[in-house]
Amino acid sequence: MAKDRILIVGMGGLGVPALWSLARAGALRLTLVDPDPVELSNLARQVIYRSRDIGASKVEAATRWMVECFPEVKVERHAIALDASNAVRLIGAHDFVIDATDSPVAKFLINDTCVAARTTFVYGGVVGMTGQAMTVIPGETACIRCVFEMPPDEDEIQSCREAGIVGPVAGAIGEMQAGEAMRASRAQKPLLSGKILTYDASGPSRVRITAVSPRPGCSCGASKHEYRESHAPGR
Ligand SMILES: [Zn+2]
Repeated sequence: MAKDRILIVGMGGLGVPALWSLARAGALRLTLVDPDPVELSNLARQVIYRSRDIGASKVEAATRWMVECFPEVKVERHAIALDASNAVRLIGAHDFVIDATDSPVAKFLINDTCVAARTTFVYGGVVGMTGQAMTVIPGETACIRCVFEMPPDEDEIQSCREAGIVGPVAGAIGEMQAGEAMRASRAQKPLLSGKILTYDASGPSRVRITAVSPRPGCSCGASKHEYRESHAPGR
């Protein structure tokens, strides 16, 4: 059976380029989740939204755009925030999740729910001129808690909001996330599984890919898998 049911959580700076990229690549079953309406300030960077969409929910406006431009793609939409009451149901109904949220709380919820459901997902985050992406294969490769352990505190979250995000960086990370989803849906290993990609648009060394090991003791259990793999007979 095709593993092509892709869930995009967040239809802002990362979700819009991810959606566009997936539609162009021929993804056929997409679900969009975002509680927010389209605002005037979104139009410049989140290019699928038009002035007629202002006030409508982002998922509704995005679906309208998909129907016009990519009528063959099936889109399901939920104008709600992913939270503890619906995460298991929504994530459980999909083969791959794109974390295109801008909230650390949502990112940890996606991580924990995907780890429990054994659903592969790609994390994405952008602060100022720097973006990051990493794909997590639960139980096999490092998860978000292996890397960050705990969500940042409120002060840190606030400073990220104030730093804003830069359009081209978000575009590159969102497209990267879409590429990971397409690989997974074609039964290819995502390029960023166990690796974190950092795109820094401010300095000379722009793109860096760093391998990340699972953290021993992390509840995702990936470090035990890595230990078993490296001690397997014949290695
Ligand atoms: Zn972990």
